[in-house]
Amino acid sequence: MNAHRSSGRGEDLARSGMDEPGGEHLLHGEPIGAGFAIGPAFVVGEDPSLEPEARISHLTREQEHARFSEAVERSIGQLKKLQNRIARLPEETQVEIGPMLEVYQRMLGPSRLKNGVVSRLDDGMTAEAAVYEATAELAELMLASRDERQLVGEDAAAAERRAGEFREIGRRVIRNLMRESFLSLSNMPNGAILVAHTLRPADAALIDPARVAAVVTEDGGSTGHTAIMLRALGVPAVLAVEGLFDHVTDGTTLVVDGYSGSVTVDPSSRTTRQARKQVAAYAQERQELGRMRRLSSRMASGEKISLQANLELPAELPLIAQSGAAGIGLLRTEFLFINAETLPDEATQYDIYAAIVSTMGSDPTTIRVLDWGGEKQGEALIRAGIVGRDSINPALGVRGIRLLLEYPELLETQFAAILRAAAKGPVRVLLPMVTVASEIVAAREIYERVARRLKRKGIETGETLPPLGVMIETPAAALTAGHLAQYADFLAIGSNDLTMYTLAADRASSDVLALYNPLHPAVLRMIGEVFSAAFLERCPVSVCGEIAGNPRLIPLLIGLGCRSFSMSASMVPRVKQIVRHISYNDCRLLARRVLAETDIGEIARLLDGFQRN
Ligand code: PEP
Ligand code: MG
Repeated sequence: MNAHRSSGRGEDLARSGMDEPGGEHLLHGEPIGAGFAIGPAFVVGEDPSLEPEARISHLTREQEHARFSEAVERSIGQLKKLQNRIARLPEETQVEIGPMLEVYQRMLGPSRLKNGVVSRLDDGMTAEAAVYEATAELAELMLASRDERQLVGEDAAAAERRAGEFREIGRRVIRNLMRESFLSLSNMPNGAILVAHTLRPADAALIDPARVAAVVTEDGGSTGHTAIMLRALGVPAVLAVEGLFDHVTDGTTLVVDGYSGSVTVDPSSRTTRQARKQVAAYAQERQELGRMRRLSSRMASGEKISLQANLELPAELPLIAQSGAAGIGLLRTEFLFINAETLPDEATQYDIYAAIVSTMGSDPTTIRVLDWGGEKQGEALIRAGIVGRDSINPALGVRGIRLLLEYPELLETQFAAILRAAAKGPVRVLLPMVTVASEIVAAREIYERVARRLKRKGIETGETLPPLGVMIETPAAALTAGHLAQYADFLAIGSNDLTMYTLAADRASSDVLALYNPLHPAVLRMIGEVFSAAFLERCPVSVCGEIAGNPRLIPLLIGLGCRSFSMSASMVPRVKQIVRHISYNDCRLLARRVLAETDIGEIARLLDGFQRN
């Protein structure tokens, strides 16, 4: 099962950077994961520059507008085709690529990008130059804001990704304007290793994982979209390999280890034998996980554990169905506000919620009302003048339920849309960032008022009022969970924020990465307290932060009292596999030992020891 952990000899050699006496040569790059491969190199040439030469058009403005519209339509058509294609790929792939394709399509709709192109066309520019300039300007703005705000870690990577998205969509539209073809892999032999200077995300999306054994490139980084795509496609890949083209030409045999980042050129027979074993072990592991979907999520000792999925974008919906998840435990609604120019009205929200609830059938959908604040930014809210004030500590400011109670019209609209969607299937409603019971009381008052209004108007809602729950994301909420449970119908532990607020360590900053650790005894004891308090109040409680999809923490959370998890859809089969192999008594014992510990390192050792047994 741990095929990917033991790359063994290749890893050692890669670290030493030495050549083997047998003539094999070791290169090293950024490991992108997803296994091992062995095969002949298929080298593709450099991507031509798409920077247009002519800026001023000799055509009429109408003609350039028409050319642009046609290129946009072609681009949207291609993105839709890609979307259909990925629907047939493994679920991890869809989780990663689907949302990105949606972002691209949204950029081609009414957007800042489109406005920028249109105003340049009005000034007499060629469509190619207008698209090139508008996308380059937005990409540069993103990078400038990264520098200005001194973003680091995840935040900086997100800004760079967004800049890449603008350039990428620009390239697509320009290629369509110039009728330039996209990377063609049609004559690539099955099982070959794609070797390129650089690989665009759009090209990566065209890769058929059944045909391409691996990808190796000279450029690229581990958090870019190309990397995300390759990881999602399950294609072993190593990017940013220095000196790649000094050693590799068409047909050179390569061994690629996507976990350690090593690329062995002209491998010896010993390396080849070992690589073959790793390739086989990895394939078996993937097959086993695929089978999990149809099996029940019952522990070896018989207890039923509910495994649900988190949803951040509607594009993830097909995967949730395929993952075997028993519903949506957390639907983050921020996507409706983040890239929107205007606030989504009730009808827009209803359409989306209703479609999701209908797709989920009899499985429940837990919809969390808007959690703006912290590191989450919502353009529509800024434009509506609702947010925009500077705050020294945004994570401690008017965030989540605080903002919604300050602008109750936001909450009313969202509640109305959710209550109407509840006519389509089982729904639960979740309030973010609650710290005192009075917030639940105030929100419930609005909730019930909206429900009464809909009823009065004869608008269809669910038969009963959907349960109203609260997120437990702060020490204040965790330590008074029993009291909050008297006002809430259910609790959901948001461990991402709970860890941040407990340890006073920003979840989005790499500066305090070493301190941000959910294994800190303070965090774990608090989670344990929440389960005990909720149990006494007979209040259902789930965990929906990142720890819910972390295989290492599953036994501990079960031991602390968790019966319900909500996680990234791609993790559901893996977590189910773990649940099915462990017994409740062992989990209890583990939890007791962990709660008695004060040292994070010792806690980690206890968890690792449990996994090995
Ligand atoms: C959490 O804080 O753990 C959580 C699930 O909410 P979000 O990550 O959206 O803040
Ligand atoms: Mg949170």
